[in-house]
Amino acid sequence: MTVHQPPGGQPLRNVEGLIERGLVAPERREALQAVAARYAVSVTPAVAALIDPADAADPIARQFLPDAAELETLPEELADPIGDEAHSPVEGVVHRYPDRALLKLVHACPVYCRFCFRREMVGPGGDALTGEKLDAALAYLTAHPEIWEVIMTGGDPLILSTRRLHEIGKRLAAIPHIKVARWHSRVPMVQPERVTEDFARALRVPGKASYVAVHANHPREFTSAAREALARLADAGHVLVSQSVLLKGVNADLATLSALMRAFVENRVKPYYLHHPDLAPGTSHFRLSLAEGQALVKSLRGNLSGLCQPTYILDIPGGAGKIPVGPAFLSGCEAPGAQGFAEDRHGDLHAYPPG
Ligand SMILES: *Cc1c(COP(=O)(O)O)cnc(C)c1O
Ligand code: SF4
Repeated sequence: MTVHQPPGGQPLRNVEGLIERGLVAPERREALQAVAARYAVSVTPAVAALIDPADAADPIARQFLPDAAELETLPEELADPIGDEAHSPVEGVVHRYPDRALLKLVHACPVYCRFCFRREMVGPGGDALTGEKLDAALAYLTAHPEIWEVIMTGGDPLILSTRRLHEIGKRLAAIPHIKVARWHSRVPMVQPERVTEDFARALRVPGKASYVAVHANHPREFTSAAREALARLADAGHVLVSQSVLLKGVNADLATLSALMRAFVENRVKPYYLHHPDLAPGTSHFRLSLAEGQALVKSLRGNLSGLCQPTYILDIPGGAGKIPVGPAFLSGCEAPGAQGFAEDRHGDLHAYPPG
């Protein structure tokens, strides 16, 4: 099979482009066009280069290439699985927890993950938050002194131009009660060439602590270009934390999950959240049970450095918020005065005296 480079380094945005690039077999054209008509498709050159078209179970392909399984929507799946809408006081802001708010700057992403929890809301086109809408969103943040942290998300805010990101940073810098600026992004992994030194500096919000939550799900995403992008962010003074989704067929086994968490730590990214997959439409082929997830997270605890331990998180469907759903290592001590049992990494129980 001839492999063509995508012209001009542009992302592949339709099934025809994926076929031309040799990533999808031509006989799947019609089935996948039906998927692409429903959910946006985009594969950056960096991601295309990582996919092995000869491997039917390629974990990178599974994350980014459309699949006919997406056309099956289950009754329990929700268009807005984590209930963003119910907590949006003004366009572009989601304020669910008192001390922090999301600022959704843009609907587009460099890639469209097939398991995306906001898949009904993200896509190309759609207006970025600009002009009066941005003014209104910032006015809301300014008027709420309880907001200690602003989380820039979308879509992926790091697709915006350096100039625009710098401008938004300057406006956030002027709000005294905001102490922490957090960017959520997949760009360092899927479009690492974007993260130049200048770009990394432009993301620093003057006078605030700056965090970048990096989304990656498989150790193969840590190419040398991605590692360099992460280093430029860390060197520019950002604290890096991770976000991953636990996905069947991608990372839901101990070896892959361990390698992923180690890759984060080796690149100065502290594992933060491992998300149980949300009930997004057409994503049941990615979901595993909470019990399977807990067993994996338990093995991580038994086998890897404490630095490599993420918190396993469920975003309660409908908008009630995020809760940790990791395995319990302590039992029996629910009632005051009761004898407790602590489970060690071999599964042996040790009595802990009643308090
Ligand atoms: C996930 C989320 C946050 C961030 O939660 P942390 O637990 O602080 O990472 C904030 N606001 C909303 C609406 C969210 O969905
Ligand atoms: S980068 Fe994030 S918001 Fe964009 S498609 Fe992937 S999961 Fe969804």
